[in-house]
Amino acid sequence: MNVLDHTLNLTGAGPRKNFESERILEKNKHQLFHRTDRLIASLICLQWPAAIFAALMLSPRTWDGAISHVHPHLLLAVYLGGLFSIPPVLLAFLRPGETYTRHITAACQMLMSGLLIHISGGRLETHFHVFGSLTFLAFYLDWTVLVTATLVTLADHAVMGYFSPAAIFGTSAASGERLLEHILWVLFFDAFLITSCVQSLKALRAVARREADQDVLLYHAYHDALTGLGNRLQIQKTLNELRLDRRKDRELFALIAVDLDRFKEVNDTLGHEVGDKILKQASQRLQEHIRKTDLLVRMGGDEFAIVLNDGVTLKLAEGIARRILEGMNKPFLCEGHAIRLGASLGICLREKECSADADLFQHADLALYKAKNNGRNNFVVFDELMRAETLRLMSLENRLRAAVVEKTLKIHYQPIVNSEAEMLGFEALLRWTDHLHGSVSPADFIPMAERTGLIIPLGRWVLQEACLQASLWLNSGRQLEKMSVNVSSLQLAHTEFIATVLSALKESGLPPEKLDLELTESTLIKNHGQTFKTLEFLRKFGVKLSIDDFGTGYSSLSYLRELPVHTLKIDRAFMQDIVDSTEARLLVEGMVEMAHSLHLRVVGEGVETQEQMNILAQVGCDEIQGFLISRAVPAEEARQMLACRVEEHGEQVTSRMDLHEAWA
Ligand code: C2E
Ligand code: CA
Ligand code: CA
Repeated sequence: MNVLDHTLNLTGAGPRKNFESERILEKNKHQLFHRTDRLIASLICLQWPAAIFAALMLSPRTWDGAISHVHPHLLLAVYLGGLFSIPPVLLAFLRPGETYTRHITAACQMLMSGLLIHISGGRLETHFHVFGSLTFLAFYLDWTVLVTATLVTLADHAVMGYFSPAAIFGTSAASGERLLEHILWVLFFDAFLITSCVQSLKALRAVARREADQDVLLYHAYHDALTGLGNRLQIQKTLNELRLDRRKDRELFALIAVDLDRFKEVNDTLGHEVGDKILKQASQRLQEHIRKTDLLVRMGGDEFAIVLNDGVTLKLAEGIARRILEGMNKPFLCEGHAIRLGASLGICLREKECSADADLFQHADLALYKAKNNGRNNFVVFDELMRAETLRLMSLENRLRAAVVEKTLKIHYQPIVNSEAEMLGFEALLRWTDHLHGSVSPADFIPMAERTGLIIPLGRWVLQEACLQASLWLNSGRQLEKMSVNVSSLQLAHTEFIATVLSALKESGLPPEKLDLELTESTLIKNHGQTFKTLEFLRKFGVKLSIDDFGTGYSSLSYLRELPVHTLKIDRAFMQDIVDSTEARLLVEGMVEMAHSLHLRVVGEGVETQEQMNILAQVGCDEIQGFLISRAVPAEEARQMLACRVEEHGEQVTSRMDLHEAWA
């Protein structure tokens, strides 16, 4: 076990023994070995000319200092010096850090020391040299390498005759002195070596531990614990570095904000453990779709950010965004669940000199918000034009959140009549007037409520209010065939939808057959299996069901037959042409016939003129709804419409004019 392995055990002990600190220490160790190998190799190389120089000094000279003939030690110094220098140099550059490199390097160093001792005739300083080398190796390499070095030295000394019987048992004073000298040196240096090693090891360990601790702290400061990706600080650092690279000021880079769609649902339904696993998988998947030079970080929750740094163009950024979307659309497999998520991306392209701009993240976020608002699972590239619009949407979202909590939205009721203009009931339609944004159309705030999940509490409230209102009217003796309430796909898919409907009916006392739930074609097609069961249950309970905006989706005839619906509402898009275009009229006629053949009632929506109404009556449309009859009105006005019908005009009110006069 070497010095750094010791250190590793110390730092790694207890709770701190984690992946990062081990990885960092391993990396430090490797770097140290690389450096040590090169350092020792270069020191060995320096000893080679030293050996040659020593041999030259020993060569006999003439009176003026010139060498008279070459001493045999010189040849030894040249050849053996080279032999001992070349392997460490080659290994240090070709195989740095390998265990065998260290052993061979140590052996060569000891042989080089032996050579120096031999050439200098075993002088005192050269003994220092050999043990000095040993100590040096011990500090910087490891104990096994030290053993190799010692063995090589002993072998070398044996070859030089230190341990020959003559040296040990010889009686000559010279041999006795030599052996004594050797033993003394060995004892002295071993003691010196061991004590200094222990001391230095302690110091070295402390330093290494502190460094590793600092590295771990630094690592945590710049990384996300769950995914191991960089974090906010990391991305900030990278962006600062981009700006500082003055040579590339004009080059583009891109910041991409990534948000996983539906991740909250996963967390809420399957728990945080599954959520964490999905996040890890998602981060790996994101990493697969970017390049090695790009940076991916986790900003927190299910938000990620990517910096594209190299050779960035709009096309490249869009290409990467597209690949990410494809990747994130594939299901995530976790604990037996196949989970579909998807992602939304906001891209902001800039020149590198603007990489430290404070509004960089805001712009990427605005683009991301827009992408989510466009129905998620897509990407948007930021441009200045979208800023105002997106900020308005964000503010609107906040206001809507408050309005839903404070219940400051209103419900208006639009009448639905039969083909003789007799009042049948109402469709409940939400109205919202915000004191900041004025009157906001449901076409704007309903998709927003769906995107944010607000539609669940909002839809529940509409259902309760509409049922209560209808029940009040019925209880006060007015005639009312139906109260239609719009239901969005998210509500229908929600686990508590049936309970919500049942409790709204129970609390209001409204008979189930008076409640008509309007669902669009796309709602019905989504999540077919579960939807079908829910609808079937509600139908058995007596609740009526309508297909809203019919003709705008892709319902097939066979599909319609399967569904437990009662009514088909032909979208108002068809009403516009019905007067001028025979084709449009034939189309509506066809729809009515088809619906009747399936025993469905038909409502014509968006009827604005008498001609439209006459044509609808001709083709057999059962019910009419539209501005011709009335816009959606507040509850009080709606009540009066019902009241007038019964009290002031008797049972029969057949024309719109009558109705109109009655309400005026
Ligand atoms: P929708 O369900 O198709 O509702 C009918 C829409 O057509 C209403 O728009 C109504 O005001 C409009 N309309 C009715 N007659 C005419 C006409 O003769 N001419 C024209 N041009 N328009 C007519 P509104 O109130 O703006 O609502 C838009 C959509 O918002 C609704 O379309 C519905 O999808 C959604 N919505 C409204 N309230 C709710 C609600 O409480 N829950 C849900 N989930 N969606 C709602
Ligand atoms: Ca509707
Ligand atoms: Ca409609």
